[in-house]
Amino acid sequence: MTELLFRDDAYARSCPARVTAADDRGIRLDRTVFYPTGGGQPGDSGVLRLASGETIAIVDTVKGEAADEVIHIPAPGAPLPAPGTEVTAEIDWARRYRLMRMHSCLHLLCAVVPGAVTGGQVSDGRGRLDFDVPGSSLDKDAIAARLNELIAAGHEVVPRWITDDELMARPELVRTMSVKPPVGAGRVRLMEIAGPDATIDLQPCGGTHIRNTAEIGPVMIGKIENKGRQNRRINIAFAE
Ligand SMILES: [Zn+2]
Repeated sequence: MTELLFRDDAYARSCPARVTAADDRGIRLDRTVFYPTGGGQPGDSGVLRLASGETIAIVDTVKGEAADEVIHIPAPGAPLPAPGTEVTAEIDWARRYRLMRMHSCLHLLCAVVPGAVTGGQVSDGRGRLDFDVPGSSLDKDAIAARLNELIAAGHEVVPRWITDDELMARPELVRTMSVKPPVGAGRVRLMEIAGPDATIDLQPCGGTHIRNTAEIGPVMIGKIENKGRQNRRINIAFAE
């Protein structure tokens, strides 16, 4: 079991940690700031710094079988630290921050486009969501204008926790049919984008998010692709 520091503080860039296991699958730590691939957000890259000053490059981070198990994948050929080794775990913050900004932006897109989300992916500098909406009902310019308006308004993005049972009683909260909400631990984290009068978006999410929509910065809508019957893919990229 790894203490997941990114869950409470998405802005934590590094932490002291101890190696609990290291094998051909990767390196496990007692605590980490590295987000493992999941919920449409890629895993973090970064380094583990040893007391000697040596570094082990981490190229990806994935979940293990156990709940809250995080596996840090070292670069090919990197030496594996022995269990018990003290390290400083440090993420590639510039990349992670771009991923956080885009992830929160995709939540905002859910508030702009009505319809069930059938898929999605956050990538470095861009992202996409697939919506189950009929025909060519989507107006690219209108979506871009509304999305940038919500971003610029500087709405707060705040975590909330509810029980698995409360979530079950409110199925309308689950927007993304292809990404299962992180249930099973008894409680589920929701991310809320709070408007001045009403909630703009509220959905279960275990990913990392920025605190204020203004941090996202201006975005552009790329292609709106037709991915089959009633499935429209909206591509987004940072404008600057
Ligand atoms: Zn999310």
